[in-house]
Amino acid sequence: MAEPELPADPKPATQLVQANSATRALNILGDRWTLMILYLAFQRVRRFDEFQGRIGLARSLLIDRLRRLSTVGIFKKVRYQERPVREEYHLSQMGLDLYSLALMIIRWEKRWFFDPANPAHRLTHNACGKEFTPEFRCRHCGELVSPRDVYVEEGPGAGFEPSPPPRTQRRSIVPADNLNQGNPILDRAFQVLGDRWTSHVIASAFMGRRRFNDFQAALGVAPNILSDRLTRLVDLGVLRRELYQQRPERWEYRLTDEGRDLYPLIAELNRWGDRWLAGDKGPPLITYHRTCGHVLEAKITCDQCHEEVTAFTVTQA
Ligand SMILES: [Zn+2]
Ligand SMILES: [Zn+2]
Repeated sequence: MAEPELPADPKPATQLVQANSATRALNILGDRWTLMILYLAFQRVRRFDEFQGRIGLARSLLIDRLRRLSTVGIFKKVRYQERPVREEYHLSQMGLDLYSLALMIIRWEKRWFFDPANPAHRLTHNACGKEFTPEFRCRHCGELVSPRDVYVEEGPGAGFEPSPPPRTQRRSIVPADNLNQGNPILDRAFQVLGDRWTSHVIASAFMGRRRFNDFQAALGVAPNILSDRLTRLVDLGVLRRELYQQRPERWEYRLTDEGRDLYPLIAELNRWGDRWLAGDKGPPLITYHRTCGHVLEAKITCDQCHEEVTAFTVTQA
């Protein structure tokens, strides 16, 4: 009840926001359909008809998402037929480098919403032959990393950049039960990450933001959209509301345990964005592992044998 008054006609956000690699990555990936397409691509789906058959997405939307992913370089198009010309969508190096993000999505889902019927929750590590949950560790000291163990400093690419323009399509959240009947997918994680503003709010919460106005200033988002997304994240159990002022009532939004456990996803988005989207200036932010004092470099391991896990050492049930 105590949110700021909503302007009748919110202006498109064009303000400057702090440069951040996770935000840049989410500008590309923070879309439900995009995440589903990538999820299938990691299962070696490559052709238009196959994508369409698996997710039942309208042709025009699928064309749009595949084009976007090709333009940014996540897919490379490979011709497999000359007449008529037909192309497959193959993950590039940039695309394959999202595999560790995919593992962190699976880790989070499995820890909080385990479903034995979901094949993505039943990964086997080929090296040890066991079903496993991926772990997020520091490559330098080998310890598990939690958000309390890290701190962030400005990097060479620090600065400000325009907040992303609003998409023409406002509603990118689709009710979960309309999707993928009989084809279980990473639903919870996609509800959090698959909407650009929802995911930006989470990334921003990890930067220590808690109050409505702080989120708004950081993201350059219209107040009605922000208010809607905060409510969704509370409903999803990722944020909780806490009263910090009585008159007028004002609320803070803090990460819950489930929310804090999204840290490895944010860290992976940061890493990927630093590597592929930072350009010549270098990373805007540098994360340090307090435990050992080194710059955080992640290593994803198997919780059964503790060996490193890569794309070629995992099979899905
Ligand atoms: Zn360390
Ligand atoms: Zn293992």
